[in-house]
Amino acid sequence: MVYDHSYNHLREIEGKLAHDPYRFDDNMSKSNRCMLVSGPVIVGAGPSGLAVAACLKEKGVPSLVLERSSCIASLWQLKTYDRLRLHLPKSFCELPLVPFPPHYPTYPNKEQFISYLEGYASKFDINPRFNETVDQAEFDQTLGFWRVKATKKGGMKGEEEATEMEYVCRWLIVATGENAEVVTPELEGLEGFKGEIVHTSLYKSGEVFRGKKVLVVGSGNSGMEVCLDLCHHDAMPSIVVRDKVHVLPREMFGRSTFGLSMWLIKWLPITMVDRLLLIVAWFILGDTSKLGLTRPLMGPLQLKNLSGKTPVLDVGTLHKIKCGEIKVCPGINRLSIHNNVEFVDGRVENFDAIILATGYKSNVPYWLKEKNMFSHDDGLPRKPFPNGWKGEHGLYAVGFTKRGLLGASIDARRIAEDIGQCWVSESKPSYYL
Ligand SMILES: Cc1cc2nc3c(=O)[nH]c(=O)nc-3n(C[C@H](O)[C@H](O)[C@H](O)COP(=O)(O)OP(=O)(O)OC[C@H]3O[C@@H](n4cnc5c(N)ncnc54)[C@H](O)[C@@H]3O)c2cc1C
Repeated sequence: MVYDHSYNHLREIEGKLAHDPYRFDDNMSKSNRCMLVSGPVIVGAGPSGLAVAACLKEKGVPSLVLERSSCIASLWQLKTYDRLRLHLPKSFCELPLVPFPPHYPTYPNKEQFISYLEGYASKFDINPRFNETVDQAEFDQTLGFWRVKATKKGGMKGEEEATEMEYVCRWLIVATGENAEVVTPELEGLEGFKGEIVHTSLYKSGEVFRGKKVLVVGSGNSGMEVCLDLCHHDAMPSIVVRDKVHVLPREMFGRSTFGLSMWLIKWLPITMVDRLLLIVAWFILGDTSKLGLTRPLMGPLQLKNLSGKTPVLDVGTLHKIKCGEIKVCPGINRLSIHNNVEFVDGRVENFDAIILATGYKSNVPYWLKEKNMFSHDDGLPRKPFPNGWKGEHGLYAVGFTKRGLLGASIDARRIAEDIGQCWVSESKPSYYL
């Protein structure tokens, strides 16, 4: 079937929908509201959603962005700690069409990044519909369009109840991110722990943990940085390192390790680049296994490519571990009474608080009714990078490459190019958006 969003086709769909008053109501009835969107619907107003909306705009394609929270880039604005800076240099994190301001440092802080994103949204006049959570999206074979159902918090015009919305569109762009929902581990005895237990998404600063013994569970970039922050606030952190982990210095020879790797990989095989990185890391950081941080057998770049597991870029945590200010613990066996934590090596220690740096997961399987493009296990596209951005029936994914903002920018450009080509080859009604 060839889909056509020409004026006549949209009128036809409008006609079909009009037969069902709960589906289409021009006057917007109180409980059900339906809108026919001539451009793509983008779910999520994080950096990925903004990037694709901007690229589309540049091609003259309007879009509608739905966002469950009350602001753009909600992960950065609401769920990150105060000391956060971009982990990668700004040149690898800028969104399409707009570079970071030249006066920004190499690693912009959280406020600078948010301000960049706000400027980005306003430059391209991107105005997401906030407080609308997409609960379901399904391709309607009869209409040849996507039906996207969302719940709008708090209703409209001051009404208290939530409002059900439905958007009908030809293109659906999933931009809900790899970090949509927090992951909390199942730890025996967790419910009996009397101290504070907080996920890093709610952690702001170590100030509230001053003088306390804190166990940080998870040894990714966030866990390592939270430990450092706790040290800066005179807390006593320990970090649980259950799995093998690659720690690399953030910089080598005055250049960012990430940038250097990207450059080397153009000339050398990945295994050789990995070997070089590990030799330099050994000279700068020493043997990390002596600190309880055993390296995986596979090199950091190969591992990233195959499993998506990001190496930790050290910003000072390792020094604190060497000084003994941060203790390294093995996996947790169980939590027991009096706030005791029993580790797999049999050691038992007492803590005042636990911080779960246990990451996030995609929420796509909960709301997208589709079988082919996204895996139901991890909510990520089944096809690996660079082929995971496009599905069937006008379905797209941006920001699911495990390659951060750089990957999202690549996706955004491709999607806009693809939809843009369709858009210009078909007639556009002017009154829909
Ligand atoms: C602490 C941290 C630091 C990072 N640092 C870097 C870095 O330095 N460089 C880099 O390249 N990458 C970094 N990343 C990785 C990645 O680039 C960021 O996570 C980035 O925010 C991803 O953007 P996104 O738009 O794909 O997802 P998100 O920023 O998560 O945005 C997704 C949006 O979708 C919304 N949403 C989710 N579900 C729904 C729904 N059902 N309905 C409506 N809206 C929904 C969410 O509220 C959110 O606003 C970092 C990640 C984290 C967690």
